[in-house]
Amino acid sequence: MSMFKDIPVEVGVIYEGERIRRNDMQVELGGPTVKQKFELAKVKPMNEIDDGKITIIGPDLKDMKEGGAYPFGILVEAAGAKLDQGLEGVIERRIHGYLNYIEGFMHLNQRYDLWIRIGKKSFAKGLNSFEPIGKVLYRLFKSELPIIEKVQITFITDPAKLEDMTPDAMQAYESRDAKARGLKDSEVDTFYGCALCQSFAPSHVCIITPQRYSNCGAISWFDGKASASIDPKGPVFAIPRGEIINEEKGEFSGVNEAAKKRTMGEVNQVWLYTAFDHPHTSCGCFEAVTFYIPEVDGLGVVNRAFKGAAVNGLPFSTIADSAAGGRQIDGFHGMSIEYMRSKKFFAADGGWNRVVWIPKEVKEKINEFIPKDVVDKVATEDDAKNIDELKAFLKAKNHPVVAKWESDAAPAAETTAIQFNEEAAGTMMPVATAGSLPIMAGGFKIILKDAKIYANKVIITTVKDSKDNKDKR
Ligand code: SF4
Repeated sequence: MSMFKDIPVEVGVIYEGERIRRNDMQVELGGPTVKQKFELAKVKPMNEIDDGKITIIGPDLKDMKEGGAYPFGILVEAAGAKLDQGLEGVIERRIHGYLNYIEGFMHLNQRYDLWIRIGKKSFAKGLNSFEPIGKVLYRLFKSELPIIEKVQITFITDPAKLEDMTPDAMQAYESRDAKARGLKDSEVDTFYGCALCQSFAPSHVCIITPQRYSNCGAISWFDGKASASIDPKGPVFAIPRGEIINEEKGEFSGVNEAAKKRTMGEVNQVWLYTAFDHPHTSCGCFEAVTFYIPEVDGLGVVNRAFKGAAVNGLPFSTIADSAAGGRQIDGFHGMSIEYMRSKKFFAADGGWNRVVWIPKEVKEKINEFIPKDVVDKVATEDDAKNIDELKAFLKAKNHPVVAKWESDAAPAAETTAIQFNEEAAGTMMPVATAGSLPIMAGGFKIILKDAKIYANKVIITTVKDSKDNKDKR
């Protein structure tokens, strides 16, 4: 049932995780084909905010061509006596949750990777302007986060204005990320967890530590702390770190307990600093994904924006799909770009000494965080487009993994067995997955392991309801 009578479509938590396929979409805002896109929250002085004001700069939804993809920005400016800049990341991440409450509205990713689709059916019902969308955002911000006293929302579709505003947004993200750099996991006794993506990946929970940023790259340890303190019942919660079980791999008793509780037993053990054995789960909105390359015994990384095939011949979409859905897949790990700046970045696997291939764009962004003795030995698409070229490059540069080839048996000439899944498109497309799904049928209990289920319609009734209905027949 809708929360708001004056909004042309329903608004409610049941629409979270709703997927809008290309054929069903009226328009796309941001997304992989569009360069200009961002969402940003700013905390402002009280007198600078016109509470409830919704501004649209550029064409509105009704002026857009059906099936088109448009540049897009959302600016949420908030004020409140207890608000400060440290809460901007928290406010910004709520945009994802709140917009996904709207029927026929799909919000994926975050920050500069924003991707929205408006469904045809909702457009036909009257969701043809940013005005009602702004109203929903405004009301949810005010009701869910009472610390916000005033809020105004701006939607930007004008390319010139977006061009103008993008540098400020990028600067805001960078200063938030930089704040958490330098703090060590061993220096704090509380980590934070986020379960916001469980609507898409039911067994996923992000463990956010100073040295392990959230998968989406939108919530730092400081953001986690701020979010848990202003909204302790919200999706972000404190995790007492507990006992250090394995310092090298990054295993903590508090993290294991929180993962077990929040995933209802699906995930019992998490190793924060490795891509192997018990890696952190991958939801779907991670910025990049690591993949093991058995032929060279090294790790590759491919980011969402990378076009074409990574060095193993697979696009981001396929690699991402093999890890997503809240699973722990040995050798695969969805993560943020910021995690690559951490000293704990796959520290248990050899850190940068184990990374053999990353896209040029990512390398440029994080260049200064890669140790000097290995930075030129990590290949990009300019150096290697396939495994043979990669092997030759690593050998020529004497990458640290080459010494392992010589000391261990020769690297396996395996190929990574992943089925291409075009529909998932590596886009944080929600897929129904389950690490272990029990089904009762005919007196047997059938357990589907690593199940992924697609359905046109799902009907859920309580056992009592179905029995009552049967009795009435
Ligand atoms: S990726 Fe992690 S931190 Fe980001 S919204 Fe999802 S669960 Fe939260």
